[in-house]
Amino acid sequence: MARGLQKIQSQQKKDAAKGKEKGSQLAARKAGLPIVCPDCKCQLPNYKTLVTHMEAKHPSIPIPAESTFQ
Ligand SMILES: [Zn+2]
Repeated sequence: MARGLQKIQSQQKKDAAKGKEKGSQLAARKAGLPIVCPDCKCQLPNYKTLVTHMEAKHPSIPIPAESTFQ
C-alpha cells in the first residue's frame, strides 16, 4: 500500500515540475518576442526560427544578421 502511495506522490511531483516549466515558458513568451520578420512583421521566438521562416517564406530577401535584433 505504502509503495503505491509513494508512486502517486512522485508522479504528482513530476506533474508539478512540468507545470512550472510550462509557466516559465509562457512568461518568457509574454516578456517579448524580440525577432520580427522584416517583411511580413511576423513575430518569431528566436533568430533560428527567423532564418527558417525567411528561407521558407521570403527566399528572395537577404536574411538580416542576428546582431541587428539585439
Ligand atoms: Zn515573414
